[in-house]
Amino acid sequence: RFITLEGIDGSGKSTQARLLAEALRGQGHVVHLTREPGGSPGAEEIRKLLLEGDPDRWSAETEILLFTAARRDHLERVIEPALARGEIVICDRFADSTRMYQGLRSAEGREMVDSLHDLMIKREPDLTLLIDLDPQAGLDRALSRKGSEERFESFGTDLQARMRAGFLELAGDFPDRITVIDGARAPEQVAQDILGVVTSRLR
Ligand code: C5P
Repeated sequence: RFITLEGIDGSGKSTQARLLAEALRGQGHVVHLTREPGGSPGAEEIRKLLLEGDPDRWSAETEILLFTAARRDHLERVIEPALARGEIVICDRFADSTRMYQGLRSAEGREMVDSLHDLMIKREPDLTLLIDLDPQAGLDRALSRKGSEERFESFGTDLQARMRAGFLELAGDFPDRITVIDGARAPEQVAQDILGVVTSRLR
């Protein structure tokens, strides 16, 4: 099974991905926990190209190509082999993030994201947990985190609000795949909710 977590910056995806992996391992499942951009040696290199250095280094189009290249490598080298071994793969962000972050910039951007996905990726997760959170709360969390990857987190609440709306719209477009989770609660409560959804799906 291939499970992804999506949401705006600071929505708690990474924490929840980790908690879910721990809970499923506790139930005896073999779990591969991974993330995007990155998740394979090659894709982690591309992540550095995307997130470090001058933010204007790449055009919007080149950025879409780099995210897609990273995803292709991650899929070929890590995700597909793990799924073939019968493991559960939990991925912190996947194609939905690119549909939002790169696709929301313009109609052409979204078309390019979708075309490249159809050409190079094809695969969708079996289940996507969309952690929904108010952008201000998400931004506060994201900004309170220290790290060298601040570049995208200066997006501001305007864009985060558009992103939130976009993610919810996406959930409406893929109701069988995407489940919306209320992220405004304590992490343990969110985790419990997520585990409930996942275990009922794994049966
Ligand atoms: O999820 P994580 O914090 O590791 O993502 C790193 C940064 O990359 C985030 O700030 C996010 O906004 C950005 N990002 C992006 N486009 C994507 C995926 C992530 O701009 N497709």
